[in-house]
Amino acid sequence: MFSAVLQGTNRLRLCATSCWLLADARCYEVRFGMTTPSSTGTNLRVLLANRPKAEPRVEDFELLEAPIPDPRNNEVLVRTIYLSIDPYMRGRIRATKSYAAPVAIGEVMVGGIVGEVVESKSERFKVGDIVESRLGWQQYGIAQPDDLRMVYPELAPITTALGILGMPGQTAYFGLLDVGRPRPDETVLVSAASGAVGGVVGQIARLKGCRAIGIVGSAAKREYALSELGYEAVIDRTIDDVGAELSATCPDGVDVYFDNVGGHILDLVLDHINLHARIAICGMISEYNLPTPELAVRPTRTLLTRRARMQGLLVSDYADRADEALQQLGGWVRSGALKYREDVIEGLEHAPAALIRVLRGENFGKQLVKVGADPT
Ligand code: NDP
Repeated sequence: MFSAVLQGTNRLRLCATSCWLLADARCYEVRFGMTTPSSTGTNLRVLLANRPKAEPRVEDFELLEAPIPDPRNNEVLVRTIYLSIDPYMRGRIRATKSYAAPVAIGEVMVGGIVGEVVESKSERFKVGDIVESRLGWQQYGIAQPDDLRMVYPELAPITTALGILGMPGQTAYFGLLDVGRPRPDETVLVSAASGAVGGVVGQIARLKGCRAIGIVGSAAKREYALSELGYEAVIDRTIDDVGAELSATCPDGVDVYFDNVGGHILDLVLDHINLHARIAICGMISEYNLPTPELAVRPTRTLLTRRARMQGLLVSDYADRADEALQQLGGWVRSGALKYREDVIEGLEHAPAALIRVLRGENFGKQLVKVGADPT
């Protein structure tokens, strides 16, 4: 449970114990993790307060109450229902620019959301429409019509627009098929194998006739990956000797490695790659909280001798092919060929804790925060 402490007008600093939010002489009760505004017309937002040097803390974020904004001509006001929590957010709270600019101190945290249109000055959207957008960690946001994607609750639960039928699902689809290029009977190894991206990668690999092998971070995830996601074998990185288990589960080597975690697991996997292996560098979450990069063995000798390819991928590069992925993934979800799991925390004020747990590997499935009532 978290509380917020009054910090000047409308400013609330998140800290870790009690359950009342006080701001502007109004009282917000945090009960069972939900924040209920005591009056209408306010927009609770989470801002970046400090740049963490290592693991982020709840105190690195700040709750701020602001008026609900008014849409101008052609704009749409959206009420957030679900907020997506994603590992890339750790990169955005660093000062260094990577493929996207960092969030400034005092700015609303970035993030994808699914929400309901509550006011529209656009002909393209009407009140009640469910949409996906990137409005960040706040209860209400203004969007331009071009920045909204319609979500159809009759086709799939609206949460899937942030998971298997959203950015993570597309990452898995393009990363595996375009970068990994698996062929039937090949061995496809996936790290963070039960997560939002990895869980989809393993299942697509199986649908393509490959042997899917996973690496996960707990016994419960291992059991789920074997019984629900259909991996042929799964290594628990927290108890197994990962190197020895790779020899045992991939006796003929690894043809495709879909890397979500980087670090020493990547080093171990490189010892097992086959001639002409493909290594899709999707993420390196085990390194995201490190204050300075680790020293590691250079992979070039292995890549050369095995004539292997290591290639980074960014899902945004595939934006013009998003419809292709969504049609294929949507078909597989509706037919039951693809399964997914979500991990939902209630209350916008818990978004910082949700990010911290993803970076610790404590989430079990796609991490979401439920911000407001779901009308679907
Ligand atoms: P997940 O749902 O997989 O959650 C993150 C998982 O990472 C954790 O559950 C945990 O799984 C694993 N993890 C966390 N800390 C560590 C650690 N120290 N060592 C090893 N594993 C750890 O997240 P996503 O599916 O959303 O993201 C997976 C990866 O894909 C991330 O690296 C992310 O940055 C990347 N990504 C890249 C994109 C791109 O365009 N390139 C787009 C989207 C995501 P477990 O406990 O099972 O190991």
